[in-house]
Amino acid sequence: MKKHIKKFWLLLIVPVAVGLLVNWLTPFDIPAAVWSVLKWIWSLLVAKFSLPVWLILLLMLMIPAFILILIAVFLNRSGETHLTYVSDNFFGISWHWQYTWGELYDESIVPRCPQCKSVLQPVEESGYRVVDDITLLCHHCGFKQRFEFNLHTLVDRVKREIDRKIVTREYLKA
Ligand SMILES: [Zn+2]
Repeated sequence: MKKHIKKFWLLLIVPVAVGLLVNWLTPFDIPAAVWSVLKWIWSLLVAKFSLPVWLILLLMLMIPAFILILIAVFLNRSGETHLTYVSDNFFGISWHWQYTWGELYDESIVPRCPQCKSVLQPVEESGYRVVDDITLLCHHCGFKQRFEFNLHTLVDRVKREIDRKIVTREYLKA
């Protein structure tokens, strides 16, 4: 307890002693200089300016405008998330998707025609279940592309590619 009291007194005495020493060593009257600076700041605060009404109104209007700008800047920053990344081209196909609660919604991944943006229809290439190649076909412009694996595998690869681009923030460069 005594130690703490000692420390407390040291904290009080040391700055005062240093201040007095500096004051004694320098030709300037430091406390007086500090006091005059404080008085000058105070005089600025209480000074009476006569402003025209239009200027006062303008200043009053600038406050909400400034707040609105700040909000806009904040929203723009927070809007920079992967949630705006909802389409990309993978394997020659234009893929579109949505998110639920910030997570990629698997069921929403849709292949669209790279030429006319129509939803592509997956067509099984073979009636035999051993070979499950598929072709994505556009009924609007006739575009088609064959894949050497089934739709489930294709969508899964697209999903992994989307995830990779979000994690690496590569989607921002597009
Ligand atoms: Zn098309």
